[in-house]
Amino acid sequence: MLTTTIAGNAYDVALENFDTAADALGLDNDTREMIKYPERVLMVTVPVRMDDGHIRRFEAYRVQHSSVRGPAKGGIRYHPQVTLDEVKALATWMTWKCAVVNIPFGGAKGGVTCDPKHMSQGELERMTRRYTSAILPLIGPEQDIPAPDVYTNPQTMAWIMDTYSMTKGYPIPGVVTGKPICLGGSLGRNEATGRGVFYTIQCACEHLRMQLKGATIAVQGFGNAGTIAAQMLHEAGAKVIAVSDSTGCVYNQHGLDIASLMHLKALTGRVEGFPEAESIDPNQLLAMKCDILVPAALENTIHAENASAVGAKIVAEAANGPLTPAADRILEGKGVFIIPDILCNAGGVTVSYFEWVQDEQHLFWEAQDVYNRLEHVMKIAFKDVLKIHEEQSVSMRIAANMLGVGRVAEAVQIRGIYP
Ligand code: NAD
Repeated sequence: MLTTTIAGNAYDVALENFDTAADALGLDNDTREMIKYPERVLMVTVPVRMDDGHIRRFEAYRVQHSSVRGPAKGGIRYHPQVTLDEVKALATWMTWKCAVVNIPFGGAKGGVTCDPKHMSQGELERMTRRYTSAILPLIGPEQDIPAPDVYTNPQTMAWIMDTYSMTKGYPIPGVVTGKPICLGGSLGRNEATGRGVFYTIQCACEHLRMQLKGATIAVQGFGNAGTIAAQMLHEAGAKVIAVSDSTGCVYNQHGLDIASLMHLKALTGRVEGFPEAESIDPNQLLAMKCDILVPAALENTIHAENASAVGAKIVAEAANGPLTPAADRILEGKGVFIIPDILCNAGGVTVSYFEWVQDEQHLFWEAQDVYNRLEHVMKIAFKDVLKIHEEQSVSMRIAANMLGVGRVAEAVQIRGIYP
């Protein structure tokens, strides 16, 4: 069985996380009413002429959860399992995430229910442009700025930027982030999420007085977030012993050569068939005895039924929502140190913010400058979350949510309500 996720409602999880943080903060009901739910939800139909000449209709969404602290910000996902509730959950998490790393954005997310692996480049381009037209009234550099997420990439962002710019009559690079460099993208954006994951793992190891050099790592999901995290951990001397993607899982107890594995994935689109490794059941990866587990695929991967088998000391949530609340409780009980998603994977949106700043200023930074600023932001955020975790004796997840929700609550209380 390849898929290790279970059907679960991510939005219920997002609301439960909010309530727990709001209770811990002692937040009043009025403030809760103002910040808990999405500000805007847009459902659209996207008709696309497929390569065979027929029209196919796709359902798609854009959700703006919050604009309290700045323009809404969040990726666009192309996946067969995209639902409105999933997009609402992801938009909600974006709000708290931007607040955790203290960047002046609110949260948003978009998604198209489609199977991009079975669509041609032409079909994907036509779908992206039509989807952009459909959500056009909502997006813009001052309003809502999309970025890549699962199965979308810099090319997708280039199509969105072009479609948006054509309606205005001049180029507007700041409408999306995660763009190609030649269109106003930022150096370091592509690797930002994985790099941020790496920095938070470094902080966790330091906190737990654990050596990263020689530590054993398992990575579930070998896409943008998972590959870069694996590569940086490998370069820091850790042993990445298992890696999976949607097609299979490879294992080598002495450590996988991540550069060669990335090469194979780029060539064939899969990790299966890597010569210096054995194939194992992807479910074994989650239960593997290792120091650090990095779930970097989809939501609800670790749940009530498989959490007790997790064999790692640290779980670094590169993906959004990979643990259900039940799994959270089980892992907490086992003493596993969890780096929660809204902290762990916030490097992506942080460099998206840097990209937006560079676009607005028409002044571009060196890669090292981006890396230094990102490291600084991620390490401060980790310290802030850890402080709440230790001082309030709450889990790292509750601490991160308290930090994010608390900052949004403070902003909304000062802004007040109109009229
Ligand atoms: P991606 O499309 O680049 O990669 C997704 C990877 O997951 C692919 O390798 C795919 O094969 C694998 N996968 C899918 N289902 C799987 C399964 N059941 N088991 C194992 N592997 C599976 O996507 P990404 O951008 O790397 O996003 C991955 C996660 O990280 C998502 O939860 C996303 O929301 C989160 N995230 C991404 C960014 C970003 O900047 N890209 C930022 C923050 C969070």
